[in-house]
Amino acid sequence: MFDKILIANRGEIALRVLRACKELGIATVAVHSTADADAMHVRLADESVCIGPPPARDSYLNIPALLSACEITGADAVHPGYGFLSENARFAEILRAHDIAFIGPSPEHINIMGDKIAAKRTAARLGIPVVPGSDGAVTDDVEAGRIAAEIGYPVLVKAAAGGGGRGMKVARTAADLPHAISTARAEAKAAFGDDALYIEKYLALPRHIEIQVFGDGNGNAIHLGERDCSLQRRHQKVWEEAPSPGINATERATIGARVADAIAELGYSGAGTIEFLYEGGEFYFIEMNTRLQVEHPVTEMITGIDLVNEQIRVASGGSLSVRQSDIKLDGHAIECRINAEDPATFMPSPGRINYYYPPGGLGVRVDSAVYQGYRIPPYYDSLIGKLIVSGKTRNECLMRLRRALSEYVVDGVSTTIPLFQRLLTQPDIVDGNYDIHWLERFLADNQ
Ligand code: ADP
Repeated sequence: MFDKILIANRGEIALRVLRACKELGIATVAVHSTADADAMHVRLADESVCIGPPPARDSYLNIPALLSACEITGADAVHPGYGFLSENARFAEILRAHDIAFIGPSPEHINIMGDKIAAKRTAARLGIPVVPGSDGAVTDDVEAGRIAAEIGYPVLVKAAAGGGGRGMKVARTAADLPHAISTARAEAKAAFGDDALYIEKYLALPRHIEIQVFGDGNGNAIHLGERDCSLQRRHQKVWEEAPSPGINATERATIGARVADAIAELGYSGAGTIEFLYEGGEFYFIEMNTRLQVEHPVTEMITGIDLVNEQIRVASGGSLSVRQSDIKLDGHAIECRINAEDPATFMPSPGRINYYYPPGGLGVRVDSAVYQGYRIPPYYDSLIGKLIVSGKTRNECLMRLRRALSEYVVDGVSTTIPLFQRLLTQPDIVDGNYDIHWLERFLADNQ
């Protein structure tokens, strides 16, 4: 087991990792930018190191500064959280070269899955159903037109290096295609420095269903059921739940076994998420994330398994703590991402939290790193916290969520709490009857 873990992240996820380390008796090192000197993860860690000025590229993405922090403190492992360097194969490689463990998969697996074209090819080879589309990158407009006509409109032009919903454009007809390609290419180049594009069938009314997997790197793998992340704004998840109200136990068992077999065959190590679109009773692979997801707590709440603890075990050479047959899904869980944003315009609302009172009680979990008097810096994402409720049934979760949202006080900045309160008045939400376009439609109709 590791002696000391450096947490290469900030905010709620840094705290989440720190909690797992404390329970395992592992010493922790927090890193922070100058803007985060007062952050909760810094206060709670055993040691902390300032790694640079506020912009993420100079601090949380600064590999030499992180390496120095490891050397100064003698950390023998790094947990990257999500975002920042969590899916950076070079970072994982550099750590390996310095004999520091990266708590995540191998650089090779990060590389394959980080390129969505290679990821789709790999998934198809492993027997996972994929969204119909181009076989590889499309280079010229004529070829793209031919492929799109073959797939049938509407199509989606996507960046191979894409993430966070960027570099993705819909073409509804052949006339739209050249513009979709040029805008996706420009966006991909600017955001990722890689303008490789591919084309996919644009599914009309799918759900976003993702399967949590875990591999031990020695050919053993398990799945922990699905999360439904269909409620999205601009391709970004807003509300996640497990199990999905839209799939049944047989579908879960079939797709779960299929991906667990694939992960085992790949020799994958650590936590991963296989993302699918689900429509008309079929699953279509879109991508794999080779890290812990923001929404991992809903899986923890229905399985009782601490996913960060499991990541640490596997990265230190241990085996998984459970076998597939030990995993029982129990009850239901829902997570709401509470952002410091205007609930109507979604404009960021950084600033000082004058008064803070998080909800509590049975079945309520708040993963957050803010506190009363904390000033939310304008440099990073606007997530204030994740409100996770769990209960025996989905209905119990909804009642609990209503109650918890009404208790939650964050005074001084705007938050998305009122949005979730509105959602809970909608029959479709109460019935679990929504697809990936539901929230955008709702917001457009209720401006
Ligand atoms: P990113 O890595 O940028 O998040 P993903 O490939 O995971 O991109 O897709 C993000 C979201 O975009 C999906 O959850 C879904 O809502 C939408 N999406 C992606 N591919 C398709 C598709 N082929 N048809 C319809 N919607 C899609």
